[in-house]
Amino acid sequence: MMEKNLLEILKMKYAKSINDASNEEVYFSLVELTKSMIKERELKKSGKKLYYISAEFLIGRLLKNNLINLGIYKEVKEVLGKFNRDFNEIEEVEIEPSLGNGGLGRLAACFLDSIATLGLNGDGLGLNYHFGLFKQVFENNKQKAVKNPWIDSSGWLNESNISFDVNFKDFKVKSKSYTIDMIGLQNNSNNLYLFDIDTIDEDIVRDGINFNKKDIRKNLTLFLYPDDSDKDGQLLRIYQQYFMVSNAAQYILLENEKNGLSLEELDKNIVIQINDTHPSMIIPELIRLLIEKGIDKDKAIDIVSKTCAYTNHTILSEALEKWPISYIEEVAPQLIPIIKELDSRINSKFNDERVSIIDKNNMIHMANMDIHYGFSVNGVAALHTEILKNEELNSFYNIYPHKFNNKTNGITFRRWLLSCNESLSSYIEELIGGEFIKDYNKISKLYDYKDNKEVLNKIGEIKKNNKISLKNYLLKTQNINIDENSIFDIQIKRFHEYKRQQMNLLYIIYKYIEIKKGNKPATPITTIFGGKAAPAYIIAQDIIHAILCLSELINNDIEADKFLKVVMIENYNVTSASKVIPACDVSEQISLASKEASGTGNMKFMLNGALTLGTEDGANVEIMNLVGKDNIYIFGEKSSDVISHYKNRDYNSRSYYYKGSIKPLIDFIVSDEMLKVGDTTSLYRLYNELINKDWFMTLLDLEDYIKMKEEAFKDYEDKEDWNRKALINISKAGFFSSDRTIEEYNRDIWKLK
Ligand SMILES: *Cc1c(COP(=O)(O)O)cnc(C)c1O
Repeated sequence: MMEKNLLEILKMKYAKSINDASNEEVYFSLVELTKSMIKERELKKSGKKLYYISAEFLIGRLLKNNLINLGIYKEVKEVLGKFNRDFNEIEEVEIEPSLGNGGLGRLAACFLDSIATLGLNGDGLGLNYHFGLFKQVFENNKQKAVKNPWIDSSGWLNESNISFDVNFKDFKVKSKSYTIDMIGLQNNSNNLYLFDIDTIDEDIVRDGINFNKKDIRKNLTLFLYPDDSDKDGQLLRIYQQYFMVSNAAQYILLENEKNGLSLEELDKNIVIQINDTHPSMIIPELIRLLIEKGIDKDKAIDIVSKTCAYTNHTILSEALEKWPISYIEEVAPQLIPIIKELDSRINSKFNDERVSIIDKNNMIHMANMDIHYGFSVNGVAALHTEILKNEELNSFYNIYPHKFNNKTNGITFRRWLLSCNESLSSYIEELIGGEFIKDYNKISKLYDYKDNKEVLNKIGEIKKNNKISLKNYLLKTQNINIDENSIFDIQIKRFHEYKRQQMNLLYIIYKYIEIKKGNKPATPITTIFGGKAAPAYIIAQDIIHAILCLSELINNDIEADKFLKVVMIENYNVTSASKVIPACDVSEQISLASKEASGTGNMKFMLNGALTLGTEDGANVEIMNLVGKDNIYIFGEKSSDVISHYKNRDYNSRSYYYKGSIKPLIDFIVSDEMLKVGDTTSLYRLYNELINKDWFMTLLDLEDYIKMKEEAFKDYEDKEDWNRKALINISKAGFFSSDRTIEEYNRDIWKLK
């Protein structure tokens, strides 16, 4: 049946037989086939509905996942095989949608999969960025940002006829919208709505990612997170945010009306989850629209407050958005009287500046608005939520203890096991049956095999094969040759000082110096980095530069190269994550304790049988509690101590610099060898930053990190025991299924169905 349909589509669309069709033609035919199957199973949905609103949806390539979730992946692969066509080659045609930045956006994507899989009625709402987040290329050992067009090669966008007027201060735009089907595993499918305008001019982008930031009609949805280091950039972000929430609010009210539901009971019919603060203006916008529709002000505020729930993703105070009133007035002045009203109600109730929405510098604090005028505030891992309650948001917690709750993040097993690691997933299925795919707790049955030598061997063999696949991928894409018999030590995530790629860099310097001294590791080490740095974040760029320099230096040193290799994946994204994660031995999760809200990369690695080397931060704490101290490598200062250091301002990096063996490692950054391949200004800036500031306390944990990493590498020598630890990690990963996370959101916050 599937075969007949595919051949028919190829004939209709391209007048070709499968033998004559290009990979591209087969790809687009498969997209069409998939879409027709989605239509067939669309359900009439009823009952309360969720709207998940987010600036990012990092959904990744869709073809394989959609086929898996439709239950036809194996069949498609077989049919293609019959005609000597390789699914993996066809899959490479798809360029992943560039609609997200990092963990927060990937979380939104995992959630849409789980919401559909659980049969819940919930759509995503966001923007259709034409060039997405920038694409990263390396030039002269530096990151260069270029545009990342993805729309034409995707095929998944459906045009929808939904369109709204959005009023800015000086002009009005008419939106248009697209949808992408979000397919659950053998269940319903929902929609991701992406709003856009048709006056966008892609040609205004020149040299890299520069464009005229003032021409809003032409630039509004060009990029995710356009540079906001100047006022025009900040205004553009506010334009984007208001455009997103105004469309979202109008769409929500339109659906409510279509369903014949009363506005007065909006909170009974719908719930809005606000993913971080970028969509926070939906609160005043919805209130404004309700008032416009004749609801009185008190009632409108009350309804919206019972409809909106807020997810906090960070405790970095510099990342909690605040905007000058005057900027919002320049973009959407209609919101100002409402925001002022919301603020004055708070000020008359609580005599505490810390909980005001508008501060004395006339800045609007988005999170504060969400907390006062939403019914739920959740953190994304147990430790993170505790820190919110007891530290960062303590003054709010004292007012609204009942609003605070934890929802530890999760990942979808469909993408992060079935799709990215077919051999492991089929082997698990062979051992314990396929129930774990939907019933995540069942994966714990694997634990019974922890002393079965044959199983442990096979786990090691699968890992080895995945390492060979990654080797081939890197050879093809970056012309880098890595040794599949080395330990794959991997840190892939956004570049940020709190995530401490610089600490890993210092370890590599340590190891390099050791090797030069003659202390060679028992098994060679390949350290793989991947990640982008925000173009305006100078020190993060410097860290990337130092890694690329070190990589050039070591990889060209014939003596050291046999024992140590440093690789940086270009343009890290969901596609490359899917290739890298199944091949990992050691998962680097080394953020400064208290700073990583949860992490989800850590969960993907665990599920794929990598062992975590990490601090007691975010969800690492929960991983540790699940697998036990023997099956994880935990080091570094605890979050409570780190928090004290900040309070007491007693961390002084310079004193660590002179302590023990740290100085030569730091000095190496500006050694002659490094300066020969690198940029003097950039390397010195990093060097000085580490000695004089080191805000995220790299040097505090460095010695402990080196020690623990050496211990992990030593343990690697006992293959059977290592494989046992890997198996235990996999067997305990059920808790981190996003199906569990979504069940909890629904049970405690959304209450759908
Ligand atoms: C999972 C994921 C992330 C988040 O990684 P963390 O290590 O949790 O920061 C970021 N980017 C991509 C492409 C991912 O798949």
